[in-house]
Amino acid sequence: MSKSRLREEICRYGRSLFERGLTPGSSGNISLRLDDGGWLVTPTNASLGFLDPARISRLDAEGRLVSGDKPTKEIPLHTALYESRGSARAIVHLHSTHAVALTMLPEIDPRAALPPMTPYYLMRAGETALVPYYRPGDPAVADAIRGLAGKYSSVLLANHGPVVAGDSLEAAVFATEELEETAKLYLLLRNLNPRYLTPNQVTDLVTTFGLELPSHHDHEGHDHG
Ligand SMILES: [Zn+2]
Repeated sequence: MSKSRLREEICRYGRSLFERGLTPGSSGNISLRLDDGGWLVTPTNASLGFLDPARISRLDAEGRLVSGDKPTKEIPLHTALYESRGSARAIVHLHSTHAVALTMLPEIDPRAALPPMTPYYLMRAGETALVPYYRPGDPAVADAIRGLAGKYSSVLLANHGPVVAGDSLEAAVFATEELEETAKLYLLLRNLNPRYLTPNQVTDLVTTFGLELPSHHDHEGHDHG
């Protein structure tokens, strides 16, 4: 895909996410890895609903601004996830309400922030890690993401929002939406004793669709029937 098409794609998905209320004001940002090793990144203080393709920040492989507006201040979140997930081509970060709400609940497992509620959550977002709260701009958040060693394509920042990688922009957007909807389902069903997918059903998805779930890596070869 040409660079101008990629710029338009970022604007189109950004507007779609914004218009559905998935990230308010000038929150949220999108990045895309280019074939030359550089990146396209949404600019700082820009609403995802009103992006201008010509003003998207273009960075070279060293992260220096080549053209466009100044990039988002949250770029360390993106570079940390790209560094640890070699296959990632795009990253979406939102301040989406249900995913943020989820991060504040006391029972959340930082290595599996959501239970296996639906097959599409596991197929698109995988399992989700939760990293602790860091003040915006604190470089330690990037270390926390690197500390996950690339096992997770979807990460929740406590009291802040999701950061999700995909092997295309579309995949990253769809995974972020799936994560947000699953967080919403969790909140709807919390304390209602819902039936989640059973370990057998999860194993069936893992083997049928070749899913790489961190929890299943630990138990490879064992049957948890
Ligand atoms: Zn943010």
